[in-house]
Amino acid sequence: ESETATEAVTTVTPGTAPGFPPFEMKEGGELVGFDVDLLSAVVAAAEGYELGEWQEFDFDSLTPALTGNNIDVIAAAMTINDERDETIDFSDPYYNADQAVLVRADGEFNPSELGDLAGNMVGAQSGTTGETIAKENVESANYNTYDSYVFAVQDLQNGNIDAVVLDVPVARTFADQRPVEIAFVEETGERYGFGVREGDSELQSALNEGLSAVRDSGEYEEIRNEWFGS
Ligand code: GLN
Repeated sequence: ESETATEAVTTVTPGTAPGFPPFEMKEGGELVGFDVDLLSAVVAAAEGYELGEWQEFDFDSLTPALTGNNIDVIAAAMTINDERDETIDFSDPYYNADQAVLVRADGEFNPSELGDLAGNMVGAQSGTTGETIAKENVESANYNTYDSYVFAVQDLQNGNIDAVVLDVPVARTFADQRPVEIAFVEETGERYGFGVREGDSELQSALNEGLSAVRDSGEYEEIRNEWFGS
C-alpha cells in the first residue's frame, strides 16, 4: 500500500454504440475509434477520474442506460440538441457534422435535395437526428428503422431501400468501403457532445476541463488526424 495520501479516484463507465465508423466500431473484436481514443484522453486529462470498461448498446438504448446508471457517460457521436438536453446533460462540443444522403453507387437514384426522397424507401438508425430528417421527408410506409446504420447500409446495398440519412463523416467512411455514395449533404450544423446524467455537473466540468486540456496539448489534433487524416 502506498504511504502517500492520494485523492480518491472516481471510475467513469463509458457507453457507446459501435457500427458508426470512424467514431466507434469493432475491429477484430476490439472496440476502436475516434470517440474511444478521445474520451480516454479526456478522462486521463481530467483530475480525479479514471475510465472504466466500455459498455456497448444500440444507439437508442444509450440514454436509458445512462439515466438508469448502467453507464456514466455516452461517447457516441451524439448530437447536442434541445430534446436530448431535457433528459441528459452534455459536455462542450467536440466535433461538428452535417447529414448526408447516401445512395447506391449505381447511379439509378440521384436525389439532390430532401424533397427528392418522397416516394422512395429511406432508412436510418433508430433514435438519431438522421431518422428525424428521414421521417420528416417521407411517408411512414416509406421509412425503415434500423438498430444500426450497418444494417441500413447493407439494406441499401441489397436494394431493399433507396437512401440512408446519416452523419457526413460516417457516410464518407461507408462510401470508401462499399458501393455507395453521398448524393448530397444537408447542412444541419450538428455538434457532438459527451452525454452525462442530468445534474452530474462534477463529471460534466471534469470532461470540459479534460477536453480543453487535450485541445491545448495537441492531443485532440493527433487523435483527429489518426481517424480522419490531416
Ligand atoms: N449524430 C447523430 C445523432 O446524434 C447520430 C449518432 C449515431 O448514430 N451514433 O443522432
